[in-house]
Amino acid sequence: MTITILMTGKKVAQSNVSVPIHYLRQHIFCPRIPYYELLLELKPTKPIWTKQGLTYEKIQQHLFKRRSLSRFNLLTGKLHFKVPLQDDELQLHGIMDGVIETNDEIFPVDFKLYNIKKGDIAQLTAYSMLASKHFNKKCNSFFIITGNSHKPYHHVIQEKEKLLVKQITLKIIANLRNGLKPNSSATQNQCSQCEYLNYCNDR
Ligand code: SF4
Repeated sequence: MTITILMTGKKVAQSNVSVPIHYLRQHIFCPRIPYYELLLELKPTKPIWTKQGLTYEKIQQHLFKRRSLSRFNLLTGKLHFKVPLQDDELQLHGIMDGVIETNDEIFPVDFKLYNIKKGDIAQLTAYSMLASKHFNKKCNSFFIITGNSHKPYHHVIQEKEKLLVKQITLKIIANLRNGLKPNSSATQNQCSQCEYLNYCNDR
């Protein structure tokens, strides 16, 4: 079976399979979502909180550009926005919202309207791994700005979190190659807020 995954609007060959990074978070929520979106290319209407999250990100990005770095406990640093990242070895790609670059280190920055979940940590860890290669600088931690407090959460990346990123990426690719709907341990509460509920006949 030939696997193709949409990458910047273009189909790529099987040897160049690359998973969009945000599917790591989706896979952790439910492994069926990458299957529905990447393989079956289903496009159900997104729930209202998806739009709210995007609006929040836009506002925060705007504020981020105007504020000083002191709240990150950094004296100086160059800000980068919407940084495209791609890595053949990790088989991942995506666009990082923000990166603070200092002389010898980088700090990815992301914006989340709601509480930080395990999937968000995996997603930012993946961005950090790719960004470190992209800038050729060490990246040991990242920031997430959440809610209305605008207070950055500083997360130090652990080796086991990097390993998890690699494991999930391989699992997503394996599920797509397999071509069968993956099993899911999603709870009733998760399914009740999921736009794919109509496609899951075992729920
Ligand atoms: S309805 Fe439940 S099982 Fe189906 S994709 Fe959504 S979370 Fe997964």
